[in-house]
Amino acid sequence: MGVDASTENKTDVRAPLAAAFPRHEQTFPALAPQEIARMRRFGDIRTYKHGDMLFETGKPGLGMFVILSGHVAITQRDGLGHVTPVIDQGPGQFLAEIGQLSGRPALVDGHAEGDVDTLLIPPERLRALLVAEADLGERIMRALILRRVSLIQGGVGGPVLIGLSNSSGVIRLQGFLTRNGYPHYLLDPQRDHDAAELIARYSPSPTDWPLVVAPDGTVLRNPGESELARKMGMLRSIAKDKVYDVAVVGSGPAGLSTAVYAASEGLSVAVCDVRAFGGQAGASARIENYLGFPTGISGLALTARAFNQAQKFGADIMIPVEVKSLDCSRDDGAFGLTLEDGEVLRARSIVIASGARYRRPEIANLADFEGRGVWYWASSIEARLCSEQEIVLVGGGNSAGQAAVFLSGHARKVYMVIRGGGLGASMSRYLIERIEATPNIELVFNTEVVGLEGIADASLERVRWRSRLSGEDSTIEIRNLFLFAGADPATDWLNGCGVMLDRGGFVVTGAQSEQNQGRLVPPLETSVPGVFAVGDVRSGSVKRVGGAIGEGAQVVAALHGFLGDTAKPAL
Ligand SMILES: Cc1cc2nc3c(=O)[nH]c(=O)nc-3n(C[C@H](O)[C@H](O)[C@H](O)COP(=O)(O)OP(=O)(O)OC[C@H]3O[C@@H](n4cnc5c(N)ncnc54)[C@H](O)[C@@H]3O)c2cc1C
Repeated sequence: MGVDASTENKTDVRAPLAAAFPRHEQTFPALAPQEIARMRRFGDIRTYKHGDMLFETGKPGLGMFVILSGHVAITQRDGLGHVTPVIDQGPGQFLAEIGQLSGRPALVDGHAEGDVDTLLIPPERLRALLVAEADLGERIMRALILRRVSLIQGGVGGPVLIGLSNSSGVIRLQGFLTRNGYPHYLLDPQRDHDAAELIARYSPSPTDWPLVVAPDGTVLRNPGESELARKMGMLRSIAKDKVYDVAVVGSGPAGLSTAVYAASEGLSVAVCDVRAFGGQAGASARIENYLGFPTGISGLALTARAFNQAQKFGADIMIPVEVKSLDCSRDDGAFGLTLEDGEVLRARSIVIASGARYRRPEIANLADFEGRGVWYWASSIEARLCSEQEIVLVGGGNSAGQAAVFLSGHARKVYMVIRGGGLGASMSRYLIERIEATPNIELVFNTEVVGLEGIADASLERVRWRSRLSGEDSTIEIRNLFLFAGADPATDWLNGCGVMLDRGGFVVTGAQSEQNQGRLVPPLETSVPGVFAVGDVRSGSVKRVGGAIGEGAQVVAALHGFLGDTAKPAL
């Protein structure tokens, strides 16, 4: 089913995209003739006649075009038929955004204005150019990133979501797209004329919300993340016969670091993540203890840089893809990762970087309110829902502290419910001081949340907590409850493959493992040769962004050793 997006050009209610390009010079730099001459060896000449499309929204891009002569008009087009001019590009300018590093679908249309000569550089040659031509590569890479940022800010090129902004389906899909750095746009079904037209045409039932309109006009009803990602071309099928040097499970800081170091040293790398790049760090509003960022950086901003960097070096990143099991038998010489759709990804070595998953405290009927008032993340999407409200946040660790400080800027009051009698043992000093200095955070010690009330599957209305000292219950009117009650290792997919886990379920590595005794093993290798573990999932790791990133870098030397890679660069 689909909307006829081609019939007419409608007036766009959004701000013109040009307004979203604050760093214009860096976003659209012009290349000097001698720079273009240096780029010629990476591409081929392509010519176009007036009106020809060079690339089209939603269709896989051919790579980066450098305009040699003539002009190309860039326009944005959504699935509802809105077409808006973006910019006109002429000789010396180049056409691409970050998705072209991996041949992803274009997010805008580009058509020739008059005759146009271009140099077309396909994705793998573009990656080679960025690495080989350091100065030029830096300018191009910066422009590709800034263009994606502008497209995200303008909601250009991605799907249009139609649904209420506080509905669980909209929050789920917005969270998925935002955490994966993908543009999208939300229309309110009650206020927007286009949305009303579409609803009249498709008469959605209550379970169909939200509707999602893809750039080609296809309408999806309440799609899952995988369905949406496939429709948008974010996710491609794996190459059946390909055997990667290394497959990494998880694209949190540890997995991304492994991907950057392994791919930059010439290994072929696949990375799978069930949710989004960034892992737990992606949920952090401000990381203040990562080296080199004295004013702090959001987890999303830090890991988005790493995500782009890994793609620049050619890592194949597949999101959202859940790894269901690991086959270590190596009958055909390679390890096998069975994915959620039954496909098998094969690799000569494996890096387990699946980190940890938030813990669900034992509260009766918790599941009735998940995504409907009970949250495990505190991003700007969830924060918007708390505006001027009182909220409850459970947890006494650093992640809870960061979330409390962040949410206190949006909510009227944050009740921070903590099982213990203090914060000193579980939280960094700088966060404790910040919490103490924030007047609208109230600390409720020696207390547990024991009950939730409201309309099941619709909205949370009240939270009941119990004092662990007096046993007394209190009930408070609360629509949003945030749970930061710790995390368990994400290792269930390793069942039966022979990788040894400790009593807490974390992966045992190096000499700690019984199977490894008497064997000279690298510190990050598990009990199965060729299978390594890094980051929070590893028994004894420090559970910090810096530690995860360090281990990702360190494991690459061990990978070279296992793979017997003679091409390993000298240090
Ligand atoms: C809110 C919050 C704030 C934090 N703030 C800080 C901070 O300020 N400073 C600091 O140093 N640390 C902080 N941390 C801790 C830090 O984020 C973690 O130590 C770090 O993210 C661990 O990285 P990782 O890559 O090992 O694992 P994770 O970040 O847990 O990433 C693991 C990834 O694996 C994926 N995955 C799991 N199972 C599968 C599967 N079967 N198939 C496919 N994919 C799978 C997950 O989706 C996830 O993306 C914070 C944590 C939280 C939750």
